[in-house]
Amino acid sequence: MKIFACMNCDYHSVTSKYTCPKCQQGKLQETEVSPKGTVYSFTDIHVAPAEFAHIAPYTVALIQLDEAPVKVTARMDSEVTIGDAVELKGLEEGAFIYTKAN
Ligand SMILES: [Zn+2]
Repeated sequence: MKIFACMNCDYHSVTSKYTCPKCQQGKLQETEVSPKGTVYSFTDIHVAPAEFAHIAPYTVALIQLDEAPVKVTARMDSEVTIGDAVELKGLEEGAFIYTKAN
């Protein structure tokens, strides 16, 4: 998974920006890290926006990556609890889909 790390401070992000929003001067450099992580928090979505109604109910989790100080928002393909080890399963319509690691 690609993330962006500031070359000037400790800022990390999954989205590219022209300059670092934290220190306002660093350039962000693309870095490849393992998408494996741990569930930091999660929400069960029962009433989904129209575009996702066909897959509801589903779980959206905030995942703390193992290799970088970054949290990723992802849709889970099964139920999870905080602290579960998870890994990237794929991308769907621009969204990260994660699954429980075994
Ligand atoms: Zn910075």
